[in-house]
Amino acid sequence: MKNANPPLLENLIERLARLPGLGRKSATRLALHFLRQPEDDVRELAGALTEVKEKIKFCSLCHNFTDEDPCPRCTDTRRDRSIICVVETPGDLMALDASGIFNGLYHVLGGALTPLSGIGPDDLKIAELLNRIDQSGTGEDNPPCREILLATGSSPEGETTATYLAERLKERGIIVTRLARGIPIGVDLEYVDGATLRQSLEFRREL
Ligand SMILES: [Zn+2]
Repeated sequence: MKNANPPLLENLIERLARLPGLGRKSATRLALHFLRQPEDDVRELAGALTEVKEKIKFCSLCHNFTDEDPCPRCTDTRRDRSIICVVETPGDLMALDASGIFNGLYHVLGGALTPLSGIGPDDLKIAELLNRIDQSGTGEDNPPCREILLATGSSPEGETTATYLAERLKERGIIVTRLARGIPIGVDLEYVDGATLRQSLEFRREL
């Protein structure tokens, strides 16, 4: 049976359905929601979408999204400039930063090494990271980089990336650390998978 929805509405539903996490059903619900919204609200949402696309760029130092280059995190003098935390994506950076525990600088790789999909070191911001380290230590506001904290994911790709980076960084005589893994807070041991348990044991510390 031919779809009898107005083509304009159908077009919106199709576009929304392509968004991550949205199927056709939720896309339809969203489209109908927009139709019921006051026109100004929808216009503002559309404006926010275009504006974010036009004005948000990558920071030339940390490669995170920003509207000014270098970004406010990179220029924040209250941050510890001698430690750089390396993450895969801007989303990872935001999650870590929202925790408020880490107060150093960041570096976004833009993914992880994935040989099967042909993603090699040149496809990530690895040369840029090494360059940042080499350029550090020029003065009081740019102290030497002392430590690199590898916070790539625990997936095989994240681990491969961390191993690769650790080797490249050790050549430079720099302290390389990796985010510890372990048992999530509030979870009983019986529900923890074997790999996590093994790592928790491996990275146990003295009390
Ligand atoms: Zn930055």
